[in-house]
Amino acid sequence: MRNVVIIGSGCAGNTAAIYTARANLSPLVVSGHESGGQLSLTTLVENFPGFPDGIHGPELVENMKKQAQNFGAEFLHGAVLDTDFSARPFRLNVEGEWIETRTVIVASGASARWLGLESEQKLIGHGVSSCATCDGFFYRDKKIMVIGGGDSAMEEANFLTRFGREVTLVHRREEFRASKIMLDRARHNPKIRFLTHTVVDEVFDPSQKLVTGVRLRDLRTDRAWDEDVDGFFVAIGHIPNTRIFKGQLETDPDGYIISKGGARTNIPGVFHAGDVQDRVYRQAITASGAGCMAAIEVERYLEAEGH
Ligand code: NAP
Repeated sequence: MRNVVIIGSGCAGNTAAIYTARANLSPLVVSGHESGGQLSLTTLVENFPGFPDGIHGPELVENMKKQAQNFGAEFLHGAVLDTDFSARPFRLNVEGEWIETRTVIVASGASARWLGLESEQKLIGHGVSSCATCDGFFYRDKKIMVIGGGDSAMEEANFLTRFGREVTLVHRREEFRASKIMLDRARHNPKIRFLTHTVVDEVFDPSQKLVTGVRLRDLRTDRAWDEDVDGFFVAIGHIPNTRIFKGQLETDPDGYIISKGGARTNIPGVFHAGDVQDRVYRQAITASGAGCMAAIEVERYLEAEGH
């Protein structure tokens, strides 16, 4: 029987692990399919306090993990496949094995959203990407396309102009969700071309296992046309990883966990931390802060129960 199992190993999960380990609760962290969370997909992080020259995302999250391990946290590579929060102790199915625990911290984060086209799905990793910082390097002097109209799309498009010879930003509406400053920066970048009212109907060419182009469609006229493209970056937001908690944890219509104050969910003893609940701030430092909050709540909860 575990005192606490932490689901997720991004900033939120790792910080919760540091705090619960230092409280002698011997936490078990189930690291998940995207071990290290969103930080493991970034390069330089310049806004995490304490690093005046910045620190690389993967290094930052690895440091957090080591720090937690130094205090006795255990890490299990794998994913939680199923959960049973209907009775105490709670039960978690980790890669086929059921683990029992008194408390749970859900820090499972949010994953990239895709357009959902069959051709797009077939070409993930072969020219289709959700992470410019991870894959931009491969498109030096190539033609790049970025999909989306939010801050992520602006950020990725700007970043990708460092590599590509041309970046086309495709957005389905005229208005942008992106903040004015990010939008202006992209608009003033001479390497970025904007295509609004436009959607992607097809990504070519799955039979070659390579992105060679796209079929676009203007929503105002319904005119469709093809363009050559080498790198196809989807930046249309994220989906919280809460599918395995469906029917147990209360979520909003988009799947984000609804907080019941502090780090509490609707189930006493199950706490939330990080992007799985936060659709507003979504920063490394806020996720870490949330992990700390969840850990302190677990500590107090177990203490009140006499453990
Ligand atoms: P977002 O703000 O939700 O924007 C998603 C964009 O993708 C929207 O423009 C949306 O179009 C479009 N989209 C969604 N589904 C689509 C589909 N199926 N087909 C085509 N387009 C689709 O997501 P985000 O840009 O990832 O930003 C999320 C949060 O992180 C925001 O709060 C943002 O400010 C923040 N963020 C901040 C920074 C920064 O400050 N450095 C960087 C990145 C993100 P519609 O507008 O038509 O719905």
